[in-house]
Amino acid sequence: MTMIDEIRRVAGAIPDPEMPALTIADLGILRDVRIDASGHVDIDITPTYSGCPALDTIREDVERRIREQGYADVSVRVVLSPAWTTEWMSEAGRVKLREYGIAPPRRQRFEVKALTVAIECPECGSPRTHELAHFGSTQCQAVRQCNACGETFPHFKEH
Ligand SMILES: [Zn+2]
Repeated sequence: MTMIDEIRRVAGAIPDPEMPALTIADLGILRDVRIDASGHVDIDITPTYSGCPALDTIREDVERRIREQGYADVSVRVVLSPAWTTEWMSEAGRVKLREYGIAPPRRQRFEVKALTVAIECPECGSPRTHELAHFGSTQCQAVRQCNACGETFPHFKEH
């Protein structure tokens, strides 16, 4: 394993402060890791939305964990452009969201636009669900209800 792979693995395993079931690698927040000839480590992270209150926590966690790995010289840079999109979320992240009772974001932007892809109930799997509130416990989430089993559940909105 190269040093970059190791740093990527350790930093990527850090849980997201708002959704601790998911890591920052699952969410696609960890963007890039570079190391120069003098051993300086640069890490780029992109928040799920700008003004994300968890961002400082994530930055501090990444710095601390990588220092603990023996890399004394670490900079964590917040990259806002290109903006984060739910398409950066990993397959593992989508599976974990569902296990956590949150409907994952739909995959294809054009399908979302055309409303051809249903948001399935994470409880019973029914595609017949409707939105109750556009904002849930976080700005990223909406609250939906299943028409089949009545379950209310969060949906991680596509953006
Ligand atoms: Zn249901």
